[in-house]
Amino acid sequence: MSFESLGLKAELLRAVREQGYNEPTAVQKQAIPIILDGHDIMAGAQTGTGKTAGFTLPLLQKLGETSPAEGRRPVRALVLTPTRELAAQVGDSVETYGRHLPYRSAVIFGGVKINPQISKLRRGVDVLIATPGRLLDHMQRGTVDLSQVEMLVLDEADRMLDMGFIHDIRRIMKCLPGRENRQSLLFSATFSKEIRQLASQFLNRPERVEVSPRNSTVDLIDQLVCPVDKRRKRELLSHMIGSGYWKQVLVFTRTKHGANRLARQLEMDGLSTAAIHGNKSQAARTRSLSEFKNGDIRVLVATDIAARGLDIDQLPHVVNYELPNVPEDYVHRIGRTGRAGNEGTAVSLVSPEEIKMLKDIERLIRREIPQQVLEGYEVTARARPAEYHPGNASGKPARRQSKRQKRRNRPAAGKQGTKTGYSSLAERMF
Ligand code: AMP
Repeated sequence: MSFESLGLKAELLRAVREQGYNEPTAVQKQAIPIILDGHDIMAGAQTGTGKTAGFTLPLLQKLGETSPAEGRRPVRALVLTPTRELAAQVGDSVETYGRHLPYRSAVIFGGVKINPQISKLRRGVDVLIATPGRLLDHMQRGTVDLSQVEMLVLDEADRMLDMGFIHDIRRIMKCLPGRENRQSLLFSATFSKEIRQLASQFLNRPERVEVSPRNSTVDLIDQLVCPVDKRRKRELLSHMIGSGYWKQVLVFTRTKHGANRLARQLEMDGLSTAAIHGNKSQAARTRSLSEFKNGDIRVLVATDIAARGLDIDQLPHVVNYELPNVPEDYVHRIGRTGRAGNEGTAVSLVSPEEIKMLKDIERLIRREIPQQVLEGYEVTARARPAEYHPGNASGKPARRQSKRQKRRNRPAAGKQGTKTGYSSLAERMF
């Protein structure tokens, strides 16, 4: 199927061609015609699937179907995103895909000066991309008017709820035209009860679009668990990056403090590294990200919130230095790699303390992640390595096995690693 057959206008097709896209992705094929027909949608699509173009292209086209009132250009399309980074990226996409159209867009988020945003809004904006907190700030100051919004996008809605934005969202919704008088599009990687509730409140008879099975991880990503003692994780990580000649790796830690410490240690190991998290200024985050994208920095250490929405083309390696507390975050984290048809690898360094988290993740993605104990980094006896066996789903210490049981439970060649032999998966990774 081609972009032409989706019914997009020439200016948008030109922009898509200039991006070098040959074919729409699955979510684009499904969502674009429904949005062009004027329906609300509730789309299950995680980051990396091309969802941004999936809503931006038809949104820009729909804006051409109505003419704004005379005078100041009112905000006619509003995109809400959970984080600054995602807002900036959606803003870039709106600029890119809309470059042959006459619309003006603005991105507003917190952590930067408000006055330039106010000036931009005053000059008139057709498409506004915003994080909820700063948008409310503008609403309270009376520097933005949302009464003319025709199209609303809730991007990464699950993350907005995880981050506690539900009250902000409700307050914003009160200032928009009712759901019958606007078109609303909701995108979410997961569909919890809370998301379904949100959809039932703010969407008008939405059509469902789902491009990958609920809560499943992107198939193109090779996933691997490396059991290792907590105190040896940093050493193992440096070894992997160095011996695998990894040029670009995104590493996740659970805390800001942990991200800073790890970045410092990796620097001492001779790996050029930067950390991004909520305590870093927006300018510092943007600088680190562009250095990482350019290849000036080899390792980017990030917390979940800071990394949300990062779009780095063809990122080959993601490492979970620590597993996330919330299993859904695992899906988001590894979605940084294997984007738009490229292969990627996601390695999780799992210490004995994290086994329960690993089991929760495996339950969520309905899949056991292959394991590889790396030679020289075996967990100590105290850590009871048998607990790592994926077959032991209870996470309890394994009971002694008979010889027959042991033979039956032996990992299949090439699937699960042993202490000495690398699995074929690991061979490709390191
Ligand atoms: P997203 O899921 O929106 O974050 O998009 C992930 C990546 O896919 C971005 O780098 C896009 O530029 C890219 N992309 C979007 N649509 C296509 C397409 N039809 N063909 C190839 N790449 C695409």
